[in-house]
Amino acid sequence: MSPHVLILGGTTEARRLAAELAARPGVRVTTSLAGRVARPAPVPGEVRIGGFGGPEGLAEWLRAHRVDVLVDATHPFADTITANAARAAAATGVHALVLRRPGWRSRPGDDWHFVRSLDAAAEALPRLGRRVFLSTGRLGLAAFRHLTDLTFVVRSVDPPEPPLPPDTRVVLARGPFTVTDETRLLRTHRIDVLVTKDSGGEATAAKLTAARDLGLPVIVVRRPEPPAGATVVSDVAGVLERLGLSSPRDSGAADTCP
Ligand code: NAP
Repeated sequence: MSPHVLILGGTTEARRLAAELAARPGVRVTTSLAGRVARPAPVPGEVRIGGFGGPEGLAEWLRAHRVDVLVDATHPFADTITANAARAAAATGVHALVLRRPGWRSRPGDDWHFVRSLDAAAEALPRLGRRVFLSTGRLGLAAFRHLTDLTFVVRSVDPPEPPLPPDTRVVLARGPFTVTDETRLLRTHRIDVLVTKDSGGEATAAKLTAARDLGLPVIVVRRPEPPAGATVVSDVAGVLERLGLSSPRDSGAADTCP
């Protein structure tokens, strides 16, 4: 019988996994996207778009579409859908895996400041700089709106959701970015502090290298913990191995998140 794999997507790892599974005869793969990005990158296999209606709606979808394996390959900070996936899998008995790229590690000499939330990042900011590169994505920027004395550069794929701090310049761009790109951006805007989520992966790590080279402080928002008891794998090859589908096509993880 052909296994049906549902991938909860929105990351490069999810697309890579979909490509790997779609290339295997007899495997049916569906990728689910939240529908947040206006023009999502193409994904091999079947695609569905939009919320399920909470954990119950997702459980219903798993049953109705006879899903055998649920892979939560969403962004490390998409914690609502991750919690919903764990509950839906528990309710239906569907085999579930969480695909999470590892977080970033600081190096000796780095001036990194770990915080628990965007609110905590906003609280720490005025002590660390005046001109901020805010690369935490397009949502949740209201946490910084009261910082009227600071200048912000916000980068995201689609326009950020207001309210924004009053002195904000928006840069619309989709990664991956090179160290040269990032150094140019930091220099052009005379950035003196960077704020990032601990998204992990290679595609958006260049900003950390550029900040390191320029000696800038970095505020890193810690990622939420995966649900208790979840089976977490760190790359596409690990998922394929768990599913008994390893082959020479296997590849490592990367990302294109903000
Ligand atoms: P979230 O807060 O965890 O989820 C909010 C709701 O959006 C969920 O309850 C679910 O609605 C729906 N949803 C989320 N991901 C979905 C998916 N893959 N398929 C179908 N429905 C989904 O998620 P978020 O942080 O807004 O992220 C939304 C999407 O963007 C995720 O797929 C994630 O991979 C991607 N993304 C997020 C970030 C980030 O920083 N958070 C960065 C890059 C990409 P229902 O309850 O109705 O099912």
